[in-house]
Amino acid sequence: MYWEQLTTRRFAEEMPAVHTVLLPTGTVEAHGLHCPLGTDNYHPAALASRLEARHPERLLVAPAIPYGHSWELEEWPGTLSIPAEAFQQYVAVVGLSMLRWGMRDIVIINGHGGNTGALSHAAEAIADAGGRVVITNWWLDFSQEIRTVTGGQGHAGEDETSVMLALHPTWVEMDHAVFNPKRPKYRVKDRPHRQVTLRNAVTGDGRAGTSEKGERILNLVVDGLDALLGDLWSGELFEPAAP
Ligand SMILES: [Zn+2]
Repeated sequence: MYWEQLTTRRFAEEMPAVHTVLLPTGTVEAHGLHCPLGTDNYHPAALASRLEARHPERLLVAPAIPYGHSWELEEWPGTLSIPAEAFQQYVAVVGLSMLRWGMRDIVIINGHGGNTGALSHAAEAIADAGGRVVITNWWLDFSQEIRTVTGGQGHAGEDETSVMLALHPTWVEMDHAVFNPKRPKYRVKDRPHRQVTLRNAVTGDGRAGTSEKGERILNLVVDGLDALLGDLWSGELFEPAAP
């Protein structure tokens, strides 16, 4: 079910049986010269809708939070960046509002790396109010699986480009896709550094993307997220640690 599609009457009727909400988060920022500015919003939206299709009675998909924190690419035309604090507080209060209507588990389907620090703090605020939050970053959480499909990963790189091609092929301009031959050795933050790390607003190799790879990645990630939901619902949230 989709939060926004329900009437208040149906919401009240359905809610006693639904305790898990998917909250997509992303950003609007440059993705190479070839992928759309909303790439980080379209990916979570697709993942959420495929998960909803598997569990329509048990999952509620919330409206996405499409504005994120995009310091790294704020200089590129079309990027919309909000401060991390504003994003953090917005996510936290949206989550608190969801708890009020009986949601227990808030599964964040995040599409943007720049959001991750703020999401972690927002999740803590929601947890303090009694919620349980799972933050998912598809390209990191399922990196091992994704690398069975692609040679590499990156911002507007092979994996992101592939998924975009699978979802909206006509919005991708593959003749403008490029490879960034450099990647950072350390977690350095300064403006000249980000211009090299994100030369042409790319990390990795956007040229290697295909829609066929994108569909395979989507299936692997949806399977992984579906397994996560199963574990969440059965309480299997731990695994044996290596000594
Ligand atoms: Zn992205």
